[in-house]
Amino acid sequence: MSVLEPAGGEEVKQAKEVEDAEKYSFMATVTKAPKKQIQFADDMQEFTKFPTKTGRRSLSRSISQSSTDSYSSAASYTDSSDDEVSPREKQQSNSKGSSNFCVKNIKQAEFGRREIEIAEQDMSALISLRKRAQGEKPLAGAKIVGCTHITAQTAVLIETLCALGAQCRWAACNIYSTQNEVAAALAEAGVAVFAWKGESEDDFWWCIDRCVNIDGWQANMILDDGGDLTHWVYKKYPSVFKKIRGIVEESVTGVHRLYQLSKAGKLCVPAMNVNDSVTKQKFDNLYCCRESILDGLKRTTDVMFGGKQVVVCGYGEVGKGCCAALKALGAIVYVTEIDPICALQACMDGFRVVKLSEVIRQVDVVITCTGNKNVVTREHLDRMKNSCIVCNMGHSNTEIDVTSLRTPELTWERVRSQVDHVIWPDGKRVVLLAEGRLLNLSCSTVPTFVLSITATTQALALIELYNAPEGRYKQDVYLLPKKMDEYVASLHLPSFDAHLTELTDDQAKYLGLNKNGPFKPNYYRY
Ligand code: NAD
Repeated sequence: MSVLEPAGGEEVKQAKEVEDAEKYSFMATVTKAPKKQIQFADDMQEFTKFPTKTGRRSLSRSISQSSTDSYSSAASYTDSSDDEVSPREKQQSNSKGSSNFCVKNIKQAEFGRREIEIAEQDMSALISLRKRAQGEKPLAGAKIVGCTHITAQTAVLIETLCALGAQCRWAACNIYSTQNEVAAALAEAGVAVFAWKGESEDDFWWCIDRCVNIDGWQANMILDDGGDLTHWVYKKYPSVFKKIRGIVEESVTGVHRLYQLSKAGKLCVPAMNVNDSVTKQKFDNLYCCRESILDGLKRTTDVMFGGKQVVVCGYGEVGKGCCAALKALGAIVYVTEIDPICALQACMDGFRVVKLSEVIRQVDVVITCTGNKNVVTREHLDRMKNSCIVCNMGHSNTEIDVTSLRTPELTWERVRSQVDHVIWPDGKRVVLLAEGRLLNLSCSTVPTFVLSITATTQALALIELYNAPEGRYKQDVYLLPKKMDEYVASLHLPSFDAHLTELTDDQAKYLGLNKNGPFKPNYYRY
């Protein structure tokens, strides 16, 4: 097994966090530079004034789970069937004559540009970062190779990185999630993008390879979502790591792989774990799911939630978001948990904590959010009542034992895109959504604003790793310091016209805090 493959069940070691935020090169640079273009602490006062379609085709095992499941917005407005010729066979160039890209149809660029401009409206923090860095260009000289969803929201991130001075080459981390028109707009703007919706397995790795393996250009930073790009570089071009200053990784899976590499002593560059940043975990996981769970369920089933009995498995960030949304619509919500702390939270939030077997006969909807496997078993599925809806908001496609439903006595009927009725011999139907894959990724979009928070965190992680003096970061996995998390949050406050209270000198002394933050110790849980 490759060292990059996840080995389930192994304990991952804690990420290191540099406790003294002043040690962070970018923070220090921007706050001390005479011509301040980007500023963290001082600018805080100013701030206070002011996001797949998965098909039924089977994937070869060598495409990682993350390439088919990840948590960013995956909706596309174009259909991959609009032209059957593979983009790899086409000769295309943008209006400046460059052919340094491979997208479905460069002619869709104008439409894609509009999509990017719409996303920009809700990603003001990134736009503000662009403006602040206009003169300074903290990523000047950075050559970033990226592998993320290619959507309007990630396009705003990519173009922000370019505005900050970086050169970018980009592939998709998910074979279904590319918005073709957005990829076209990026290519038209001069970004070397290699991605289209509905890539084959071979296309997927070919696109990644085209980003890395190019004469006269060598990446010095990696931005990954799922670990496939990192894996490819390790496997095919290990010498590239001589120039790489750092890896920024967003996903649970990718971070897990990085910890494994580190544990095996094989991580040869510093890496930033964005997944566990407060501004990712406490926002993406919670608010993204709170906003998208109902959307996914409504689009697929038209279900009315008032008075319906729903069981949510897992009361972590994702579960809390789902429960809050369902409760607000008048559903009767049950929670299952293995952890007494989360179970107690659920109780005190007004939910009945039960074993799944206790309510399985009566519930109308079952939602998994545990990150675990086989939470809903065939036995549970057998006991569900007619028309019970079953879906997953947690990890990949492991939480519901869908394989156990592929037996001769059960009939599958595809009633809508992403909606299967599984029919028992007595006529009972269970409504299975997205074949047990992530409901919101497969059947709805996710809010741009939440993605903005994650994207800003990614941009700052890249800036920090790129500007850090040699020796600050070892070959290990790090978390962004709290002060940067606070900065990301502060960049998003103006959207709400939120006015932060400032500590008085006396109060700061009393609490033992710097007036400009960080405001909480690293162990604070939010
Ligand atoms: P978390 O660790 O905060 O919560 C998971 C909870 O499930 C924990 O409290 C755990 O005790 C509980 N649990 C584990 N096994 C269980 C079982 N058998 N029965 C009942 N409860 C069980 O994690 P999280 O941040 O809530 O994320 C959960 C999953 O969702 C992860 O796999 C994460 O990657 C994924 N995720 C999905 C989205 C999305 O958009 N759909 C967004 C972010 C994260």
